Amino acid sequence: MSEKTIFEKIVAGEIPSYKIYEDDDVFAFLDISPNQYGHTLVISKKPFKNILDLSPEITCKLFQAVQKIAVAIKKAVQADGINILMNNESSAGQIVFHAHVHIVPRYENDGGYHGKHLTYPEGKADEIAEKIKANL
Ligand code: 5GP
Repeated sequence: MSEKTIFEKIVAGEIPSYKIYEDDDVFAFLDISPNQYGHTLVISKKPFKNILDLSPEITCKLFQAVQKIAVAIKKAVQADGINILMNNESSAGQIVFHAHVHIVPRYENDGGYHGKHLTYPEGKADEIAEKIKANL
C-alpha cells in the first residue's frame, strides 16, 4: 500500500490543522503558508491525485464546498475578491499530490497571487478559522 499523503494525515487528525469545514467527502483547512490570511485548502477526503483523476461525483462535491467556503471567507476577512486556484501536476506548481483547491482572499492593489507567503502570528489562525466557520 502506498504511503499516506500529508493531507490524508491532516484529515485523520494525525497532523494538526485549523479545520474550516468537513463533510463525508470533503475537508477544508487553513493553508499553513498563506498567500493572504484566510487562504484555505479544500480537499477530497479520498486521495485523488488532482483534477485529472478526480471522479465527476467528487468534483461536484468539492466545488460545491469551494463555493460555499469562498463566500464565508470573503465575509470573514472582509476581502474585496477571491482567487480560486488548483495546481495539477508539478509542471503546474503542484507540490502535494492529493487533490486540493486553494481559496485565496484578495484586496484591491494587494499585488495578486505571485507566490507570496505569510506566516500567522500567535493566535491569528485560530481567530480567522473561527470567523470563517461563523460565516458558513
Ligand atoms: P500546491 O502547490 O500543491 O497546490 O500547494 C500545496 C499547499 O499545501 C501549499 O500552499 C502549502 O503551504 C500547503 N501545505 C503543505 N503542507 C501543509 C501542512 O502540513 N499543513 C497545511 N495546513 N498546509 C500545508
